[in-house]
Amino acid sequence: MLTALDDAAIQFNDQGLVPAILQDYHTRQVLMMAWMNAESIQITLDTGKATFYSRSRQALWTKGETSGHFQHVVTFYYDCDADTLLLEVIPDGPACHTGHTSCFYRELAEDTGRDKGNSAILKTLNDQIEDRKAHPVEGSYTNYLFNEGLDKICKKLGEESTETVIAAKNGDPEELISEASDLIYHLSVLLNYQGVSFDDVFEKLTARHTHKRRDEYGASGKIKN
Ligand code: AMP
Ligand code: ZN
Ligand code: ZN
Ligand code: ZN
Repeated sequence: MLTALDDAAIQFNDQGLVPAILQDYHTRQVLMMAWMNAESIQITLDTGKATFYSRSRQALWTKGETSGHFQHVVTFYYDCDADTLLLEVIPDGPACHTGHTSCFYRELAEDTGRDKGNSAILKTLNDQIEDRKAHPVEGSYTNYLFNEGLDKICKKLGEESTETVIAAKNGDPEELISEASDLIYHLSVLLNYQGVSFDDVFEKLTARHTHKRRDEYGASGKIKN
């Protein structure tokens, strides 16, 4: 249930519109941008479904009205100078009319020198897996695994796990890195196939870590013996 706060004086442009960005509440992925007018904001608040003003069609437009890919609003922000909206949503399906999860599936430029951190690549990998499912590519190994199904994916994961163990025992760091990468890729495919994400895994790891710390230090913050 969305409750409007009336101190929000939204700065509409001279066409009575304000840009609205949609972000996936769970994955944090930026999904799309569209325009809202006062009426579409009100409809969004009333229905909980992201509703825009289409400049090309000159009409109100509830995202998903023909595709079924409604975007359910969890939180509704406006920025410092109240000229941009941000909606955290739970999507029923891809936000982009091309079938891509996000409209931002193309890179204009890439900083190859940047350190993305050690978990961002897992998200990138999962985005690519999602993309392959939506748009199968001839000769794609990911599509092959998905077509073969659960037994095949599990078998490959088992193999890569064994290869990782062998690599460790061989004592060759390059081989270990390579086999561990194979293992994590296949684990990504399996998680995606089963409808869970690395975010769920990270949440569990974080929760365990937090509990562990609480157990170590005790509720009072003192170290337990
Ligand atoms: P939908 O709202 O998903 O039922 O899509 C209806 C129509 O809205 C599509 O055929 C597109 O013309 C347009 N549309 C849908 N999603 C987007 C988007 N993310 N960005 C721009 N136009 C869109
Ligand atoms: Zn602004
Ligand atoms: Zn799009
Ligand atoms: Zn391998």
